[in-house]
Amino acid sequence: MTNGNGRVALVTGASRGIGRAIALGLAARGFDLALNDIARQKDALEATATEARAAGVRVATVYADVSSKAEVTAMVADAAAALGTVHALVNNAGILIAGTVEALPEDAWDAVMDVNAKGVFLVTQAVLPLMKAQGYGRICTIASIGGKHGAPEQAHYSASKAAVMGFTRVLAQEVGPLGITANCICPGIILTDMGRVNLDDPEVRTAWQAKTAMARIGDPEDVAGPVAFFCSDDSAFVTGQSLNVDGGIVLS
Ligand code: NAP
Repeated sequence: MTNGNGRVALVTGASRGIGRAIALGLAARGFDLALNDIARQKDALEATATEARAAGVRVATVYADVSSKAEVTAMVADAAAALGTVHALVNNAGILIAGTVEALPEDAWDAVMDVNAKGVFLVTQAVLPLMKAQGYGRICTIASIGGKHGAPEQAHYSASKAAVMGFTRVLAQEVGPLGITANCICPGIILTDMGRVNLDDPEVRTAWQAKTAMARIGDPEDVAGPVAFFCSDDSAFVTGQSLNVDGGIVLS
């Protein structure tokens, strides 16, 4: 199993769903954790932090809306004050608002781009000075197979996820000489509150399963291992990549 060696990982959107599974997976592998979510998720984030501490690692909770530069700056300062630094960043916070291109309100486009794309830029920019100073960093961004393929009513979501994959390919080139890697994970359909947007209708769910080589919907825990790989020294020479973690979904 990948070993965190007591390194510090900052995970955004960690109160529930995929972020919670990533947090618990990293704790089990020996990473100390700075766990972020938006302030309204305080109860859920503190519960995740308590679960993670049971693995014997240090855990701090750091609240911020990732689309606010001021809040992100304060969050990274809080994480560094509590745990010393950040070695690994997992950009996981994201939102999905369904709507066709024809009917999508402008504010829905802005909200999705603000959290899913600008949020990744802001948090990454804020941790880079810490990573540069120590000559080491791992940046893992949760994109989506939606950024490579996409489904109706998710054009803005797909655009936001394609954006972070492009961002990551350039980031990898800029920060590689500093000892920092940057990669994306592209989950398929994962059973979380967000994933249920795709799964409410039993017929739709059956159709997704039929398109998936593993013949099942993904669990949040399915994402944790590949993220831990990108956060560790096992991936030291892997950068700029976007890895599907989708059970082999075939979009024919
Ligand atoms: P989720 O269950 O909705 O959890 C996302 C968490 O992020 C929530 O706690 C949410 O809080 C928080 N968050 C939202 N906006 C935030 C902000 N501005 N600042 C900080 N935290 C914020 O979603 P999930 O399914 O676990 O998805 C996690 C990531 O995986 C997302 O980037 C998503 O796009 C990606 N993904 C998911 C799937 C899937 O099938 N589930 C597939 C591909 C990719 P609130 O609930 O209060 O907004």
